[in-house]
Amino acid sequence: MMLEKIDHIGIAVKDIETTGKFYREMLGLEFLGTEEVESQKVKVAFFKIGETNIELVMPTSDDSPVAKFLATKGEGIHHICYATNDIEGDLASLKEKGARLINETPRPGAHGTRVAFIHPKTSMGVLTELAQK
Ligand code: ZN
Repeated sequence: MMLEKIDHIGIAVKDIETTGKFYREMLGLEFLGTEEVESQKVKVAFFKIGETNIELVMPTSDDSPVAKFLATKGEGIHHICYATNDIEGDLASLKEKGARLINETPRPGAHGTRVAFIHPKTSMGVLTELAQK
């Protein structure tokens, strides 16, 4: 595994604008912008804190995985994302170790990254994302 750091923490929200005010105005985090990620049917907003970001994730469609998460669990922490410099190698290694993967091959993520998710059944309830720049 080639994990380097926590890239971001993903938080599922119903409304990026409303929630964004908490991170921008109350916590004073630097707002990096929003982006639509079509492969995941979400709109995301990033806030920088040190080497890590907070990622607000809002579904853009009722069949988005995040819409299902909000319907069953409500708003809150959705996933943790680790930065890697060898996502294919890491996915192969995880598969070999018996991990259940949501994405066996990387998909396009925000900011031109390639991402893949590990199923929360493998990680005791924490949806885990890998991202490579
Ligand atoms: Zn993420």
